[in-house]
Amino acid sequence: MVQRILERGEIESLDHTSIPRLRQPVRASVFADRAARLRQLAQDHPLSSYLLLMAALADAQQHALRDCALPGAEKGRIELSQAHGMPPLQATGWERAPGWRDILKALLAQLSSAPGLPPEAGQVIQSLEQRLTNHPEAIETQADALLAERENDVDAASAPFIMAALQVYWTSLAADFNAGDLPVVSPKGVCPLCGSLPVASIVRVGGQADGCRYLCCSLCSSEWHLVRVTCSHCDDTKSIAFHQIEDGPEGIKAESCDNCQTYRKIFYQEKVLNADAVADDLGSLTLDMLMGEAGYSRASGNPLLWQNEQTEES
Ligand SMILES: [Zn+2]
Ligand SMILES: [Zn+2]
Repeated sequence: MVQRILERGEIESLDHTSIPRLRQPVRASVFADRAARLRQLAQDHPLSSYLLLMAALADAQQHALRDCALPGAEKGRIELSQAHGMPPLQATGWERAPGWRDILKALLAQLSSAPGLPPEAGQVIQSLEQRLTNHPEAIETQADALLAERENDVDAASAPFIMAALQVYWTSLAADFNAGDLPVVSPKGVCPLCGSLPVASIVRVGGQADGCRYLCCSLCSSEWHLVRVTCSHCDDTKSIAFHQIEDGPEGIKAESCDNCQTYRKIFYQEKVLNADAVADDLGSLTLDMLMGEAGYSRASGNPLLWQNEQTEES
């Protein structure tokens, strides 16, 4: 099957006024879909045990999201964000309801009884549970570092679990958000709802979004539209190239930009109907290695995979 590639003129001739600007997460299924995709990717995969652990984490996230009800943005905050074109659920600086740590506690409790839990993960979970009880302020500090994407302040081992709880929190806020309240103008390059960086993008099939590319938020699970063949990091349109692994899996490319020397992955739903940005990104780390060798750096990381400087140096 030959992939249909829209030429630039063709892309520009599409009627953008009918393209939905925002796709909000579906509370009933967002993390369950991710868990299913992670399990599918884990088959015969060199990182199988890690992907299965993340699948169990996504199951726990779905469970926690179901019972999650949180106060959203107040009217004043929405008006202010509309006036200044700022994300109404801006994650950095958000006064988190302390109950978010109960979400983390619930995730850890469900995970610790997951079948086949690797012993190292069990230790990380245990130490996180102790810190939640004895040093909740340390958990808050980690959460702040994660939301601000200050990689050097992040404890890589516990980061995926804390991040998972924050994802449940913001996904709940994003699912409840009234789309009509979205500011007309949003800052470029970040999620229009929560201001976080995208993990990757997906070209969607079906309905008004058919053939359109959406950037996928690493935190609140929302997606926002960005015209294809455009750098999602610096907005350049002139030096974009697409890379894929020869004889590699279908439906995955890296969209690189020679203006800023970065790339993000792009997944094609017409090839993989249940593609999930977070899951498929974790499942295709070989492409990251090759892009690194080609001199490009990732424009942003995966919310469930963190590296510390020390780890890289050792
Ligand atoms: Zn977001
Ligand atoms: Zn660029």
